[in-house]
Amino acid sequence: MKFWFIAGSQAMYGEETLRRVEADAKEIAAGLKVPFPVVYKMTAKSNAEICEMVKEANYDEDCAGVITFCHTFSPSKMWINGLAMLQKPWLHFHTQFNESIPNEEIDMDYMNLHQSAHGDREHGFIGARMRLPRAIVAGYWKDPQVQAKIADWQRAAIGVQFSRNLKIVRFGDNMREVAVTEGDKVEVQIKLGWQVNTWAVGDLVKEMDQVTEAEIDALVKEYEAAYDIATDDMEAVRYQAREEIGIERILDRVGAKAFSNTFEDLYGMKQLPGLATQHLMAKGYGFGAEGDWKTAGLTAVVKAMYPDGATSFMEDYTYDYPHELILGAHMLEVDPSIAADRPRIEVHPLGIGHKEPPARIVFEGKAGAAKVLSMIDVGGRLRLIVQDVVCEKPFQSMPNLPVARTMWKPAPDFLRGLECWIIAGGAHHTVLSYDITDDTIRDFARIMGIELVTINADTTPVALERDLMLGDIIYRR
Ligand code: MN
Repeated sequence: MKFWFIAGSQAMYGEETLRRVEADAKEIAAGLKVPFPVVYKMTAKSNAEICEMVKEANYDEDCAGVITFCHTFSPSKMWINGLAMLQKPWLHFHTQFNESIPNEEIDMDYMNLHQSAHGDREHGFIGARMRLPRAIVAGYWKDPQVQAKIADWQRAAIGVQFSRNLKIVRFGDNMREVAVTEGDKVEVQIKLGWQVNTWAVGDLVKEMDQVTEAEIDALVKEYEAAYDIATDDMEAVRYQAREEIGIERILDRVGAKAFSNTFEDLYGMKQLPGLATQHLMAKGYGFGAEGDWKTAGLTAVVKAMYPDGATSFMEDYTYDYPHELILGAHMLEVDPSIAADRPRIEVHPLGIGHKEPPARIVFEGKAGAAKVLSMIDVGGRLRLIVQDVVCEKPFQSMPNLPVARTMWKPAPDFLRGLECWIIAGGAHHTVLSYDITDDTIRDFARIMGIELVTINADTTPVALERDLMLGDIIYRR
């Protein structure tokens, strides 16, 4: 994926100035140390040129977003028709080619060339006037902190591109009677692009029956390379390999990058997929348990933003008040990308679901700053809730808890953090990400036009309640 860099200008300045604009813009684009390439595309001088560029950007599958910068003044009425059609994420980069004002060199020609302080205000006005979703980054283009903000926006834009093409396979419906995992799939497709559809568990079982022993051998070798085998029950491990291959075949045939299933509908399957699901998540697929397709999709989007990151489906389970910690885990399905040490494969009975003891990957989550994300349907709209947390190494070994686990403390502090999460309606299922930043989440929610609720060190329950009431007015329709 590439990002297009557009220098705003106009014909009035003459060829010499426009040549300088182009050369400087190329230098800026090439000099940005960001995760995805930024390529100089054009110097915008007219309404027709801008419209052509926007049409091309909209239809170019490899263009993930457009960055604009007005080196000189660039009258904004010529941008209106193009910007009105723009469907790709937009970043207005309010920068300047030179870091300092030179003493001897500065004259009126210099000022006419280096006037983003002037031109970018005109450009900012039209973005505000048209109420267009856009990220704004101000600062000198060689400043690493400025480049980091562009990188954050790029991650969001990559997530947007991925989200608009995301297919989610549901094996079975959601867990009976559960409310928070429900949602309006039509609304989600309109807002986020997700195509959420169901596939029969019986068809998955047929697919699993087609898997050969040789294919299972090969996948078990992959397991052995990545994890310690801490069980004698290799038949259970091999059955998970059969499940993983069957699930992945259906996902790949559909073109899906996320899936959900439920222990209440495993008809014809011997084990709840544990190791199978965990290894699929580690490979980049999103997952939500108990039919939670919203968390499955959100996990996949965050993984697309950070392909080498630490991201997992997660669930809040139990509290320790004296240590002020939440124990996060799941029946089985936690992603080993968040593991602190080399994980191990174990086989244990599962108290729920009346199936054979499933093989699963067991480990402790790593320590560090992270965020938990939950997307809920509050009736007529989606709300994305994000809370800052600090993950800690579990303070005891819990030898009789044979699942992957982690512990964390929520912001702003333990009890207010819990209160804020409940006030906002956040689910028990979340995406735990050690990588995603405030700016990336904010950019993603803005581009998608969904409500964002953040709970961090600055949040108070009083202010949060007020934010939610404002959201009810803003998003009313
Ligand atoms: Mn669950």
